[in-house]
Amino acid sequence: MTTQPWPDDKDSVLECRGLSKAFGGLVAVDDMSLKVQRGTITGLIGPNGAGKSTLFNLVSGVIRADHGEALLFGEDITRLKPYKIARKGMIRTFQLSREMSGMTVLENIMLAAQNQIGEKLIPVFTRPAAIRLQEQEILTRAREVLDMVKLTHVCDEYAGNLSGGQKKLLELARALMINPDLILLDEPAAGVNPSLMGLLMETIAKLNQETGKTFLIVEHDMELVKALCHHVVVMAQGRHLIEGSFHQVTHDAKVMEAYLGVSS
Ligand code: ADP
Ligand code: MG
Repeated sequence: MTTQPWPDDKDSVLECRGLSKAFGGLVAVDDMSLKVQRGTITGLIGPNGAGKSTLFNLVSGVIRADHGEALLFGEDITRLKPYKIARKGMIRTFQLSREMSGMTVLENIMLAAQNQIGEKLIPVFTRPAAIRLQEQEILTRAREVLDMVKLTHVCDEYAGNLSGGQKKLLELARALMINPDLILLDEPAAGVNPSLMGLLMETIAKLNQETGKTFLIVEHDMELVKALCHHVVVMAQGRHLIEGSFHQVTHDAKVMEAYLGVSS
């Protein structure tokens, strides 16, 4: 795979404006702004502790910002709960996989649909026909999604028995259940062995190219960033450091310094 060209269509689907978050005296995200353009795969890179996961937590409604705003498709989502943001078309995954190990792969994926849209499980005997129909739709969607991430052969396996790479694919599958327009992936390649790495990258590229999904991806694996990302934003010490093509940012002296821990 080679570095992707920048797509023509350039309207932003997600915009952060001056987001800040401090934990006690530590400013984890400091006046951070960025835009994610529709139809792109945008990379978010930076050294450990740069604030990347905290930024994901802010924009997905997991934690509340001290300052700043997040806009999804131009609409302010800064104070919305995660399930409301999910309903508006943005889903995020977590750096550490959050599968329910005692449930099967299929059950995990079906449960994700319910959690993401904020619906409660309803007891079997009181289920009206409409709910049963909705469950049927969820099952159909779950099977489609399993096929997309090539996990159909392990659909009845306990999620706890999957390999690290398969768990990452399951995370992606869970995110895909409500058919989001924008998907935020936090270190999708961490702990993924080389044999599944190709499949993971192909799946992301295919979802982007064939179904037009937009991605914002935090990743340390530079092969993945180089191969997939049209545009790369670099964070360091909570701040926006620089953005551009993979080539531009990886040849920038400030980025080298940030990774080497040399203060600028
Ligand atoms: P990254 O994902 O770029 O590695 P994080 O966003 O996880 O960075 O962390 C940024 C900084 O914020 C780190 O110094 C981290 O220790 C701190 N941090 C993150 N979450 C919390 C929290 N819930 N409470 C206290 N400090 C936190
Ligand atoms: Mg992180």
